[in-house]
Amino acid sequence: MHEVPIVRDIFNTLQESHPDKFDRITKVQVEAGLLCNVQPVLIQNAFEALISDEPHLAHIDLEVVLLPIVAHCEQCNQSFEVVRHKFVCACGTPSRKILQGEELRISKIEFLT
Ligand SMILES: [Zn+2]
Repeated sequence: MHEVPIVRDIFNTLQESHPDKFDRITKVQVEAGLLCNVQPVLIQNAFEALISDEPHLAHIDLEVVLLPIVAHCEQCNQSFEVVRHKFVCACGTPSRKILQGEELRISKIEFLT
C-alpha cells in the first residue's frame, strides 16, 4: 500500500506551501492519473490513519479525482483516451506519448474564510 506516504506527502507539501494558512484548510482536492495506480478508497483509508496520528487534520475533507489516460497520436495529430492499457489510436497507430495519466497533484485547496 503506497497510499500512506502519498497522503503524508500531500499534507507535508500543503504545510510547506501554506504555512500561515494551513490551519484554515477545509478541503483538498487531489487529481490522480490512472497510471499512478492510486485507489481513492485506499487514499481515504490512509488519510484516516494519518488523522489518528495527527488529529488536527480531522476537519479537512480530502477528495480524489481520477484522471483518464490520454495519449497523443502522431499519425492523426490527435489525442485519444487509453482504455484498458490499449495505447493504440482509433487509426491503428500505437502511441506511447502520454499527455495525461501520470500526474498526481493537488488541484484545489479550500480555506476557511
Ligand atoms: Zn491516430
